[in-house]
Amino acid sequence: MKSEAGNREPETRNPKPETRNQKPETREKRGRGLSLLSGGLDSRLAVCVLREQGLDVEGVVFTSPFFKMDTAREAALQLNVPLHVVDFTRDILDLLEHPPHGFGTALNPCIDCRARMIQRAGEMMVQGGFDFVATGEVLGQRPMSQNRHSLAITERDTALGGRLLRPLSALLLEPTVPELEGVVDRSRLLGLSGRSRKPQRELAQRYGLTRYPAPAGGCLLTEKGFCRKLSDLRANEGLGDERLVWLLLRGRHFRLPGGAKCVVGRDAADNAALKSLRAASDVLLHTVDVPGPTVLMPGGAGDEDASLAAHICAAYADHGTRESVTVRIVRDDATEERRAAPLAREQAQAWML
Ligand code: SF4
Repeated sequence: MKSEAGNREPETRNPKPETRNQKPETREKRGRGLSLLSGGLDSRLAVCVLREQGLDVEGVVFTSPFFKMDTAREAALQLNVPLHVVDFTRDILDLLEHPPHGFGTALNPCIDCRARMIQRAGEMMVQGGFDFVATGEVLGQRPMSQNRHSLAITERDTALGGRLLRPLSALLLEPTVPELEGVVDRSRLLGLSGRSRKPQRELAQRYGLTRYPAPAGGCLLTEKGFCRKLSDLRANEGLGDERLVWLLLRGRHFRLPGGAKCVVGRDAADNAALKSLRAASDVLLHTVDVPGPTVLMPGGAGDEDASLAAHICAAYADHGTRESVTVRIVRDDATEERRAAPLAREQAQAWML
């Protein structure tokens, strides 16, 4: 686990309490919360609401190939809170194989994903001596993952012992342990619900948050185009190899008739990434006599698929009016060159995912 901060010194698992303007020995103990900070407006507001009543708040973001931390980092800087960065890749891949509560509109197992994040934050709460875990969830805002039923499921599955606080909707929910213990002042929490964003926009103005992302977005598991590639991987190679999951973020993906997978770089960045992600068992192709894409066939390919990949490689090369181009096919330790006629792109797209 890494930890980052806004313009404060980076903090570790047991960050020192802020001592500005106070001698440590006379400083009153303040409640400490660990808040899930995706970087969306609601997660920022949750931090603001808690800090307004004098609580110490740190953020945590869970990263994976499907969800990056850039927005969370920007939010941590804006709010000047330390940010813990936790790799969530294995967790989310396990959930994609077996989501106990199913998927949303695409391949997004939101109920289980949130529950797992909160569970992991709960473990950090215990290790780091925090009083509670907070989220920016708003009751009724998302039909699937933020209704009363799913919030209750999360509460039950994560077993945080009543220490899961939703500051934006707390007044509509049962009081939590930190509220009952007086660590958190319930009267200064909010009772937001529903899908309207107006109250959040007003709060953002009140807290001086002028920059924040539009709601939703940011998670590739909600994007149908990406999920087609992910479904194909899950059905063929499976999700056990994280390298193959990272490959989904690069290039055009094809599933060839013989069963091989073929990834065609779209630009120089893709081409470099495909080369760097190559494993010994993969087949690598590229054009020799004209500029063209790097093509990777993870896990290897039979001769027919490799030959078809050479024609696809030629299709996306700058072949001009040439009838064929030279494609180098690199397998393990053997390299060969073939002349390949560019396939019409519409034809190649028949195998595109
Ligand atoms: S949108 Fe993505 S990151 Fe967010 S809860 Fe759903 S699956 Fe998890």
